[in-house]
Amino acid sequence: MQNFPGVGVSPGRIIGTIRQMPKPVSEPPAGEQLPAGVTAEEATAALKTAAKAVHNELRARAATVSGDGKAVLEATALMATDTMLLKSAAKLIGRGASNQRAIWEAGASVSEMLHNLGGYMAERATDVLDVRSRIVAELRGVPAPGIPASSSPFILIAEDLAPADTATLDPEKVLALLTAGGGPQSHTAIIARSLGLPAVVAAAGVDQLPDGTEVYVDGAAGIITVDPDESQRAAAAAWATTASLLAAFDGTGATADGHPVPLLANVGGAKDAVAAAGLNAQGVGLFRTEFCFLERDTEPTVEEQAAAYKGVFDAFPGKKVVLRTLDAGADKPLPFLTDATEPNPALGVRGYRTDFTTPGVLERQLQAIARAEKESEADVWVMAPMISTAEEASRFASLCAEAGIRTPGVMVEVPSAALTAEAILREVAFASLGTNDLTQYAMAADRQLGPLAALNTPWQPAVLRLVGLTVEGSLAEGHSKPVGVCGEAAADPALAVVLTGLGVTTLSMTARALAAVAAVLKTVTLAEAQELAKLALSAPSATEARAWVREKLPVLEELGL
Ligand code: PEP
Ligand code: MG
Repeated sequence: MQNFPGVGVSPGRIIGTIRQMPKPVSEPPAGEQLPAGVTAEEATAALKTAAKAVHNELRARAATVSGDGKAVLEATALMATDTMLLKSAAKLIGRGASNQRAIWEAGASVSEMLHNLGGYMAERATDVLDVRSRIVAELRGVPAPGIPASSSPFILIAEDLAPADTATLDPEKVLALLTAGGGPQSHTAIIARSLGLPAVVAAAGVDQLPDGTEVYVDGAAGIITVDPDESQRAAAAAWATTASLLAAFDGTGATADGHPVPLLANVGGAKDAVAAAGLNAQGVGLFRTEFCFLERDTEPTVEEQAAAYKGVFDAFPGKKVVLRTLDAGADKPLPFLTDATEPNPALGVRGYRTDFTTPGVLERQLQAIARAEKESEADVWVMAPMISTAEEASRFASLCAEAGIRTPGVMVEVPSAALTAEAILREVAFASLGTNDLTQYAMAADRQLGPLAALNTPWQPAVLRLVGLTVEGSLAEGHSKPVGVCGEAAADPALAVVLTGLGVTTLSMTARALAAVAAVLKTVTLAEAQELAKLALSAPSATEARAWVREKLPVLEELGL
């Protein structure tokens, strides 16, 4: 039996035959010239026709899907006819380059420019490279790169998927996603989770398997096995029946002995909030407000903001909605707040810190929140991202008070905030642990990088200790303040139990994970969760912490989580 270990990013156990993504379109030779007898005008016209065809094909695919997939495909379609891309290719053709070589080089420079801008723009860099390959394939008259057509379902393997590919995945045809590259936060991983497809990333070598090979995939454990054995066949068959059980959350998160752990949703806008309410989320634990304005070059007005916030508040009348003020910077740049030339954006002017360089935006956001709150029935809590000191917490609380916001809080995602939680929580009403960033900063490991995936897990004992210290700070003499978790850690059912045992009061996650977390949480008492937290803290490594806890939670195995 041949195994390909990787990082499990979306649960599910499945057996199927694999199909590899076609090899990428080969690079047209450097220095390739216009063929004899073809004028620059003719070559440019042919290029434009090919670009238009790619644009139309992507638009047509966009029309057949909805949600995230549609937006990604529409954005990629626009890139195919991007003026800057086509103009710089035409310039190269004017200097004698063949049209294939010209679009190749133009794509490379536009992609590099986007990459250098960093963060969200850098993600678009891959889209340009995807688009240029499609245009070259069109010019060559060969099939476009992308998901292979197949009449029967298959497991898709790729080195890493482009957004345009993942977005059009037909979950009826594609059973699971495996990539040789990419990290747990890669576009592929995020889309797989939102589609509910089992997925394993960073499984080196899996891209070498021949088409038609039968494999077993365990998307929770991060295991891929060639020629599955009987026990794996049984596990896959069992998953097929239990998966439906995991589709519904009854709306009450609690341990077996009735200790309440409200299970909340992470949302990026009204659409997510409505979907989360439909899945019985007990409220919103993280509203990432910057997601409403990622495409904006200018600051949204107070009215625009109030309307966007009200859309989320209205999905949860009478329930808690924790809104986070703009977390601009690093992987989420907002042109009106962030400096694209910073050398280390993750350590730069990000989140609350943008108030140091662009004062006024935060105050106006707080006004917009207060206005939206007045017109809605949600119980609105407001927290600042990237708080590092008690002074910052104190100033944020004053700004909230001035705006008429009653429940100010902070995110704990910088290790200094966890270490000084007692002082910080004297200043504000609550804290929410952002374990994605807390892990990246505690381990000094970029959360986007596949090769650092083993470091970048909240199972690291160092990260669990920081969680424990934050809870201790929240219970210090003189105050007792709620501390939730809103990072991806909350969506891992085993870790959710450990976090509960460490004393966190709420868990907030992608709405699709609510049912699985609830199902596991209700199998342990609070005392058992506390024992498991102690066990995890005592482990010498992240791998052992996870393995030891999982061993004590047989329900995970039963449910295939
Ligand atoms: C986090 O850092 O854990 C978090 C929830 O914030 P984001 O992922 O948006 O940075
Ligand atoms: Mg964060």
